[in-house]
Amino acid sequence: DNVANQIAAGEVVQRPASVVKELLENSVDADASEVHLVVSESGKTLIQVSDNGKGMSETDARMALERHATSKIQKAEDIFSILTKGFRGEALASIAAVAKLNMRTRLRGSELGTELKVAANEIESQEFCQCPEGTTIKVQNLFYNIPARRNFLKSNQVELRHIIDEFERVAMAHPEVAFSFEHNNSELFHLEPSTLRQRIVNIFGKRYNEKLVPVSEDTELVKLEGFVGKPEFAKKSRGEQFFFVNHRYIRNPYLHKAVQKAFEGLLLDDSHPSYFLFMELDPARIDVNIHPTKTEIKFEDERVIHSIIRTAVKHSLGQYNI
Ligand code: ADP
Ligand code: MG
Repeated sequence: DNVANQIAAGEVVQRPASVVKELLENSVDADASEVHLVVSESGKTLIQVSDNGKGMSETDARMALERHATSKIQKAEDIFSILTKGFRGEALASIAAVAKLNMRTRLRGSELGTELKVAANEIESQEFCQCPEGTTIKVQNLFYNIPARRNFLKSNQVELRHIIDEFERVAMAHPEVAFSFEHNNSELFHLEPSTLRQRIVNIFGKRYNEKLVPVSEDTELVKLEGFVGKPEFAKKSRGEQFFFVNHRYIRNPYLHKAVQKAFEGLLLDDSHPSYFLFMELDPARIDVNIHPTKTEIKFEDERVIHSIIRTAVKHSLGQYNI
């Protein structure tokens, strides 16, 4: 049922950046300490992610490409991963339905790897290969079989911006992992493993040096860590504003207001604070009723979290008495 696959895939793979996000997250999930992203023409012709993660067996590699193969919900943890990743173990299958996909993977400690070639969701071949430990997935000619989708893509500049956004979010959520990003043969990012503070500076520039105020709060409900930009550093244009929940980037306008409230009285008119805030909380306390793009999530205890964020940020700003 290729048509069904294509329709389902079209909902989840909206643009090259969706592919980038899923592949990068898979690499991080596979415990990689190094992840390399190579893109051509803003992902329209090539998106390749290589990692030195745990790799897949021959069988797992094949199953990873089959729809529903991994879509069992077994525990709260799985519900959360569905909430945030959105693909129910279908990301690779969805990508394979709308592009040419080549996967080379070798299990750690295994002698040989396996190489799979897929086009329009049909596995064309699977063979042994000499390849490094870890996984390389190459996605070519995205939407080649869905002209309507392909024509709907925005300019290379816009699509590249979306890819950079996704790359930055994953890289920020995992500062202990090395990431690189090459676009049309020029290197856009080369990030060594580092602290979160250093990673923020490496991604967003030296202007953040000395400008980050740590935020830290540990309650029964939520563990909050991260940084806010010093108020005098706030910009007229929207600054860098990031929430992460259990290491996944999320959007939440209500919690955004909590940060704004904490900055009240400290900012010049219509300037925007920067923040990089990481929450860890029990996945079971996240509302299942969410936005289809899955970056917008709600919490059971949203008001409490709002108040924790506001208080913690305010406290941090006061401590650094600015
Ligand atoms: P999900 O990540 O939601 O499980 P995906 O379609 O993204 O679904 O991936 C399917 C499965 O393929 C994963 O659960 C994982 O077991 C395996 N996999 C995907 N990418 C990698 C990778 N880079 N390294 C190791 N295993 C991977
Ligand atoms: Mg995945």
